Amino acid sequence: MTEHIAILVEHDGKKIKPATWELFAFTEHLAKLHPAAIHFIMIGEATRNLAQQLSTQTQCQVIAADIKGADTYHGQIYTDAFTRLLSRYPATYIVASHSTSGMDMIPALSIALNGTCITGVENTDKEDQTLYFTRAVSGGKILARLCAPLASASAPLCLTLSPGAFKPIAPDKNAAPDIIHTAVECRQTAMIYKERLASPSLGSNLTKAEVIVSGGRGIQEEENYALIEALADLFPRSAAGASRPICDYGWAEYSQQVGATGTIVSPKLYIACGISGATQHLEGIRDARFIVAINTDSNAPIMQIADVCIVEDLTEFIPLFMETFQKRKRPAD
Ligand SMILES: Cc1cc2nc3c(=O)[nH]c(=O)nc-3n(C[C@H](O)[C@H](O)[C@H](O)COP(=O)(O)OP(=O)(O)OC[C@H]3O[C@@H](n4cnc5c(N)ncnc54)[C@H](O)[C@@H]3O)c2cc1C
Repeated sequence: MTEHIAILVEHDGKKIKPATWELFAFTEHLAKLHPAAIHFIMIGEATRNLAQQLSTQTQCQVIAADIKGADTYHGQIYTDAFTRLLSRYPATYIVASHSTSGMDMIPALSIALNGTCITGVENTDKEDQTLYFTRAVSGGKILARLCAPLASASAPLCLTLSPGAFKPIAPDKNAAPDIIHTAVECRQTAMIYKERLASPSLGSNLTKAEVIVSGGRGIQEEENYALIEALADLFPRSAAGASRPICDYGWAEYSQQVGATGTIVSPKLYIACGISGATQHLEGIRDARFIVAINTDSNAPIMQIADVCIVEDLTEFIPLFMETFQKRKRPAD
């Protein structure tokens, strides 16, 4: 019997989200290690067009169900609907994005389907006929390699894929669509969707900046965030950013948070001051062209991806750098 890998599709009712194409790239890699047919499972208010596009483009089967209100994520409805669909169309591996909805739904789904769950997967490899899945732990300081050798259609392995771990593949085949449209009766739910709130990164000036200087917990005190702003001010078209704890402390606005749950940035120059380089922060700067890290710890993860590593105390280095910069600045500048 053919085994299956199921991709849980993310879309907004009009377009397939890029995260789905990252899942496709990952599952193509997974299917080479564990031969299985890839199929997509999607729910939404009116899935017909998107299902057709997806199947034509990828040459894979799409199982789709129309459910009222399902263009907006709802934990109970989504978990219930996917559980019913996956019971009817079982898969050995069930893959969703490590997005807010994927993180919320996949653990519940794995319990409902009597499966196993690994979240935040960054890669997979095979050794001695066993598949291993790599994920970051301890805020990205350590990588864990986990295996679940007994995955099967009756006890699936449910995974969420870390954003950015795989380059998205959006194939452009022109295959005859292979779609199963099916109905799902979801249970009544006590949870009511009220409204969608604006992302904290809305209105952020980070996306336009060519140079971003960000401060992390290494700044130690709120007053030291002024050093980050002053360093940013040295550059034209610049902005000051921050890691999440700095925003949580209230030392910077959430619109300044860089990272997976903040703003994804792509400046020409990114200067990370006192930032360790947790995966969630690195996800936000993977498109930065040149990275400078100022950190007292030469083994901090950020040092592995930085183009220039400055192993110094930022409270000493930044003032000294600014002083030297001002001295060397020609009067005409
Ligand atoms: C679901 C989820 C989403 C998240 N989203 C984000 C996100 O979008 N963005 C984000 O940033 N984080 C995010 N996080 C948090 C993330 O996991 C890390 O906890 C956070 O990025 C760590 O921030 P940091 O690097 O400032 O602090 P730390 O990890 O504490 O690092 C501080 C660094 O400063 C260095 N340092 C200390 N003193 C000095 C000094 N005097 N001079 C120079 N260096 C010094 C230390 O060596 C250390 O490397 C998220 C976490 C979760 C669970």
